[in-house]
Amino acid sequence: MPRSEINRSNRIKRAVGRAVADFNLIEEGDRIMVAVSGGKDSYTMLQQLQLLRKRAPIGYELLAVTIDSGYPGFRTDIIREYLQESGVPFHIEPTEHYQIIEAKRRPGSSYCSFCARLKRGTLYGLAQRFGCNKLALGHHRDDFVETLLLNQFYVGSLKAMAPRMLADNGHTTVIRPLVYVAEEEIIAFAREQKFPVVCCRCPVCGVADMKRKRIKGLLKELEQEIPFIKQSLLSALGNVHPRHLLDPLLVKRDG
Ligand code: SF4
Repeated sequence: MPRSEINRSNRIKRAVGRAVADFNLIEEGDRIMVAVSGGKDSYTMLQQLQLLRKRAPIGYELLAVTIDSGYPGFRTDIIREYLQESGVPFHIEPTEHYQIIEAKRRPGSSYCSFCARLKRGTLYGLAQRFGCNKLALGHHRDDFVETLLLNQFYVGSLKAMAPRMLADNGHTTVIRPLVYVAEEEIIAFAREQKFPVVCCRCPVCGVADMKRKRIKGLLKELEQEIPFIKQSLLSALGNVHPRHLLDPLLVKRDG
């Protein structure tokens, strides 16, 4: 393997290890359901969790799960082949999400948010069915900082994503082991590893929604002037000064 690839692989491994340690993402006896969409992020996450499992001083199990939303042409056979070869236990769940979205989506409403809600609900249900206490999602550093800016620009809220959070169902803990991994690293890594990336074939596949696209563009522009801007935004999420914010609840508590 060329040195640049070894270095990248080590960087990703270290970043995942750091996230696991910082947020206590994995504990003895965990059964972790790993959401595998067939995209670069989920393949990277699955591979990293498998590698980590081999050298971890604690015992935990992985179960890769793919939701087949029913979009015509979605190549679950390619994902199945990869999962079989990787040796990880896996499950592919067929659903009627596509039909539900087509029938119930209000005109003009976001395809992605409806689809993502359905998927998340199915994943939570499967986690309970398969006795998994944790659900690993492949959101990376760029997702965190883009969400932070989206919420500030369009929602008026200061929040990003949680690296570890108990879901509303009260049973499943969602973990995001790629929080410290940059998207550009994942893109290069997925290419080097020749992951069999498949498109979900949904009507908006590969097209970032307009607001997210705007934020991505803005960050790219700002990166010319501030090369470390994404890293700085991520660091800001871990360096919060509640007294210097305007949330009355935080101000009162900090009294
Ligand atoms: S990109 Fe497609 S599959 Fe992914 S959340 Fe959006 S609608 Fe669903």
